[in-house]
Amino acid sequence: MNTLHHYINGRRVEGRGGQFGDVYNPATGEVAKRAPLASADEVREAVASCEAAFPAWAATPPAKRAQVMFAFRDLLRRNADEIAQLISEEHGKTLADAKGELARGLEVVEFACGIPQMMKGEYSENVATAVDAFSFRQPLGVVAGITPFNFPAMVPLWMFPVALACGNCFVLKPSEKVPSASLRMAELLVEAGLPAGVLNVVVGGKEAVDTLLEDPRVPAISFVGSTAIGRYIYATGCANGKRVQALCGAKNHLVVMPDADMDQVTDALMGSAYGSAGERCMAVSVAVTVGDGTGDELIRRLAPKVRALKVGAASDPETEMGPIISRDSLNRIRGYIDAGVREGAELVVDGRDLALQGYEKGFFVGGSLFDRVTPDMSIYKDEIFGPVLSVVRVGAYDEALKLVNDHQYGNGTAVFTRDGDCARDYVARVQVGMVGVNVPIPVPVAYHSFGGWKQSLFGDLHIHGPEGVRFYTKQKAVTARWPSGIRSGAQFNFRSGAEH
Ligand code: NAD
Repeated sequence: MNTLHHYINGRRVEGRGGQFGDVYNPATGEVAKRAPLASADEVREAVASCEAAFPAWAATPPAKRAQVMFAFRDLLRRNADEIAQLISEEHGKTLADAKGELARGLEVVEFACGIPQMMKGEYSENVATAVDAFSFRQPLGVVAGITPFNFPAMVPLWMFPVALACGNCFVLKPSEKVPSASLRMAELLVEAGLPAGVLNVVVGGKEAVDTLLEDPRVPAISFVGSTAIGRYIYATGCANGKRVQALCGAKNHLVVMPDADMDQVTDALMGSAYGSAGERCMAVSVAVTVGDGTGDELIRRLAPKVRALKVGAASDPETEMGPIISRDSLNRIRGYIDAGVREGAELVVDGRDLALQGYEKGFFVGGSLFDRVTPDMSIYKDEIFGPVLSVVRVGAYDEALKLVNDHQYGNGTAVFTRDGDCARDYVARVQVGMVGVNVPIPVPVAYHSFGGWKQSLFGDLHIHGPEGVRFYTKQKAVTARWPSGIRSGAQFNFRSGAEH
């Protein structure tokens, strides 16, 4: 069996911790590879390697660092098929979807190529007589990223290109369920000219994460994953004096107004609720229908399409929806569908018993659709992270808005309508970080920043784009007087510039 490795100091390093995790082929349910689970010592070694590389990398002119990003972009494009294959094998998503996430990640690399522009400072001449002031941003040092299973390439790419282009060194701890894309990207970066040790990848689980959280040489941590773990990482990281951004779970609502284009709504819901088997933090898992008849019309259009979803292995080019990541996740999703039935929701399409010939042990569940879901039900309150869409019917727009605003999560949402007034009001008043108007998955492009509100994000700054640059840098402000400036003797009181 293929045993994976870490990537430290510019080379593959075998796991020495003695612990390994299973990497599955989710379509067959078989263990395909073993991933080393890094011990505390191995993580500390990765941090030490980054620490040694930091002074030279931080002193490298930003334009030279950007050149490495340009070369990395080319290599990622040339190796896109191989990386998409690795993503698809370990995660189970279709090849087209894997290429899609890589393309979105590539946009962050392109943004990172222009980061010298974002590192520019500000300058004020003569803030007092013969005194000048300027401020600029500097890298933090050795920063770490902890990433989830559902975007094996895109989420790591939200982090390390921005951090590296700003002059930091980076320890990436990818999900131990899908580590191969990260390991391959680290190799490509070194091929692109990144000095050894600037980016290290340690594969691991809780011990690796806890070691990063405790290590005083790591001043900042980016995390993307579930809310329970994100809350822990935020609390522990902050208690240890670190800067932390933790992007977490979601329950994204799509509000369907009575005047919406129902063909557009149906297509949008099919892609956003069932694409990647609902394992996206921006997946729509609740459709809120407004007004008499909108719910009936939606169910009438949606149900046959959900029943007709082509579920299968990613290797089958006909597949629209692949398997779930693990047996545990599959059981959790089936458990939620059972709970929805028990709690009184109407199960219009039941994906629980889907069986695929030749893939009997694969982690498959069919697309599922609930109607007449109410806010007290667990299928409404919790993130299911599977292909289960709940329809909640309300009478008026204000009820829909209140429903979304009362939910604990606030990652993404969308409103579908032809009414500009309604759309504008929704954008203004909804308590959610990313909003779509007739766009179901409003993931901001790389030169804007990505992040949710409420229980979907702990921390102050969103990820990539301008907020990403702020997260990975700190500002320094300088006030300078040269010997030829006027001398005013010892000053014991604060004075304003106007008094000099
Ligand atoms: P997860 O929280 O289980 O794992 C995320 C990372 O934390 C992994 O690297 C994992 O190894 C590590 N981890 C797991 N348990 C840990 C523990 N006890 N202590 C320390 N570290 C631990 O999440 P997942 O199942 O890999 O990913 C799915 C979740 O990620 C969903 O909730 C989804 O909404 C969320 N997500 C959020 C965003 C966003 O931008 N808001 C994006 C993608 C995924």
